[in-house]
Amino acid sequence: MQVIRLEALSDNYIFLLYDAEQNIAAVVDPAEAEPVLKQLTQLNAVLVAIFNTHHHGDHVGGNQQLIQKFPQLTVYGGAEDRGRIPGQQVFLQQGDRIQFSSRTAEVIFVPGHTRAHIAYYFPPENLGETGELFCGDTLFAGGCGRLFEGTPTQMVDSLSKIRALPDNTRVWCAHEYTLSNLKFALTVDGDNADLQRRYDEVTVARNHQEATIPSLLGVEKRTNPFLRWEQKALQLAVKSSDPVQTFARIRGMKDKF
Ligand SMILES: [Zn+2]
Repeated sequence: MQVIRLEALSDNYIFLLYDAEQNIAAVVDPAEAEPVLKQLTQLNAVLVAIFNTHHHGDHVGGNQQLIQKFPQLTVYGGAEDRGRIPGQQVFLQQGDRIQFSSRTAEVIFVPGHTRAHIAYYFPPENLGETGELFCGDTLFAGGCGRLFEGTPTQMVDSLSKIRALPDNTRVWCAHEYTLSNLKFALTVDGDNADLQRRYDEVTVARNHQEATIPSLLGVEKRTNPFLRWEQKALQLAVKSSDPVQTFARIRGMKDKF
């Protein structure tokens, strides 16, 4: 399974999962149909599935047009999103498994950004390879999604599930927000040498218009303040010793950053 990153709208990424042997593809969060159709034409591949993480327009905007073009495809989304995702046929819950090509993904229920948000995790096929996490707007490179429909407690719980995955997991998040996320991260975790180094690397990458997605989960665990609510430095920065309150305060500061 190959993952092809497509740019959409102003700062969205769409991910195309491609199986060259069977000549089939699936798409994660098609913000719009056009880039997907263009890539499918280039590959001469058939789209068999849409995997939606949540109902926001910049994640499902391409659903209808893709369904029209490939009426046989299956649309997957979270069970709690019933009625909110165009064309949804499969209603997924924590622990469900879905199939694409030779790979099986585990569904992780990650409410917080929305009340229905799910993530798709493909464990590594062979020892030493990466796993692939499609987490929508839950975890970003250097950041996390805003809490539109969920509480800090829910989001900490959701991010804890993601944090429990192996370091060698590629994080395919849906937006290119990394540089501004890391700029903010330095304001609450400025003595973190790994974070400082990452900020420098990402600055160079963005100056060259390079994408910073996917990132590695191991790097996120060391540098993303929204996975580090138990760290003393962050708790000190927001004057709390409570993990959830630490997370909530950092999220609140980021909202105003
Ligand atoms: Zn969203």
